[in-house]
Amino acid sequence: MPELPEVETCRRGLEPHLLGRLIERLEVRESRLRWPIPVDTGARVAGQRILALRRRGKYLLFDLEQGVLMLHLGMSGSLRVLPATTAPAAHDHVDLCLDAGQCLRFRDPRRFGMLQWTAAPAEAHPLLRDLGPEPLEPAFSGAYLHHRAQGRRAPIKTFIMDSQVVVGVGNIYANESLHRARIHPNRAAGRISHVRMDVLAAAIRQVLADAIAQGGTSLRDFVQEDGQPGYFAQSLRVYGRAEQPCPSCGGRIRQRRIGQRSSFYCATCQH
Ligand code: ZN
Repeated sequence: MPELPEVETCRRGLEPHLLGRLIERLEVRESRLRWPIPVDTGARVAGQRILALRRRGKYLLFDLEQGVLMLHLGMSGSLRVLPATTAPAAHDHVDLCLDAGQCLRFRDPRRFGMLQWTAAPAEAHPLLRDLGPEPLEPAFSGAYLHHRAQGRRAPIKTFIMDSQVVVGVGNIYANESLHRARIHPNRAAGRISHVRMDVLAAAIRQVLADAIAQGGTSLRDFVQEDGQPGYFAQSLRVYGRAEQPCPSCGGRIRQRRIGQRSSFYCATCQH
């Protein structure tokens, strides 16, 4: 599934191809995504220029002259800029037809994505307005995490994966961040000191920044040559490494389910 680093890499890859471009029309071959594409979307965006391409959580936001086009890649979506004459393949559900004979093509095999226009500011949209801060921006800090965790008995891993607390900390990144911060994933969020939350916030930033940096160097474009979204072959310390030695202490990495998600940790290092 595309996570925050993949979406950010996608945004950076697309940005130079899209800024200032005119949207001539929208071609929808399949509108039944997780949220159906509203029928008036084409009329809303046609004739407008793309002024900026931003990201909020895992949503891509195309700032237009009037309003904002929101796009979510869902479980399996990917985007490419192609000559508009390129024949669509299976699962190529939408083309944003641009000037100069090009299109932005949205492929979404599992159809968990979304595409819709909203009035500005997009941050007021129901899917965005309750999102927590961006982990790579200054509003996210140990002090913030410590404040939000007061009285919370949820496991810290579940807490940091809650997008109303902070966006973009998916399962892999939660496991890796907690190992770096030496915090047990099942520890109650409200029982973690301010100092340890400082360490955790820094670990989350580092893990995500590393993934974005690797994406920027390992992907020639915003999709790999086989047309699949680029999932980063990141060097993982604990995720998917049950029964293997902990890279810090050599102890055995354990696996258990916490909040319905696979959790990997070292019971020696993390407490
Ligand atoms: Zn260890």
